[in-house]
Formats: sequence, structure tokens, C-alpha cells
Amino acid sequence: MSKCSKCDADITFMSVLNSPNPLRLKCSNCKEGIKIHGVTGGVAVATIFALIGLILYGFYGIEGYWLKVVLPVIVVSEVVYFLLIKLGIVKVSIS
Ligand SMILES: [Zn+2]
Repeated sequence: MSKCSKCDADITFMSVLNSPNPLRLKCSNCKEGIKIHGVTGGVAVATIFALIGLILYGFYGIEGYWLKVVLPVIVVSEVVYFLLIKLGIVKVSIS
């Protein structure tokens, strides 16, 4: 399940948002490192990055690019990644 292996707290959206490395999260409750399963996490991150790249390339140069395209795309991809973890599609490694 997508819970912290140490304190059993649910992984929160903030711990996904605050992590510079999508494969290495930090529990927002006990600050323990949460390792994302390499294969499912890697596939998810690669797919999300590919989609981000396509969208950013496709809309490049339109008016208000950063605010209307880049920002929403980043927020949506963080939410999608979080949902993938929540739903158990992206798995959490038990240390
Ligand atoms: Zn924890």
C-alpha cells in the first residue's frame, strides 16, 4: 500500500510536491525517506515527462505560455503522479 513503511501514515500530496526527486519521497509525518518502486515509478515518471515535453513543445510560443501552459502542466503532472501512487499503480518499496 502507499503508506510510509515506518509510521504507517498515508503519503500526502505535499510529500510528492516537496520532493525534488520523484523516486525518493519523504514522509510528511515522520520525515522518513520513502523509496518508490524502481520499475513502476520509472515508467510512470518517464511517461509523465514525455507527455510534459510533448505538450510544452506543442504549445511553445503562444501568448501567456508560462502561466497558461507550463504552470498548469506541472501542477497536473504532480497530481497525476500522486494519484498513481495513491491507487497503487506506482508502488512503494518496502525497506
Ligand atoms: Zn512516516
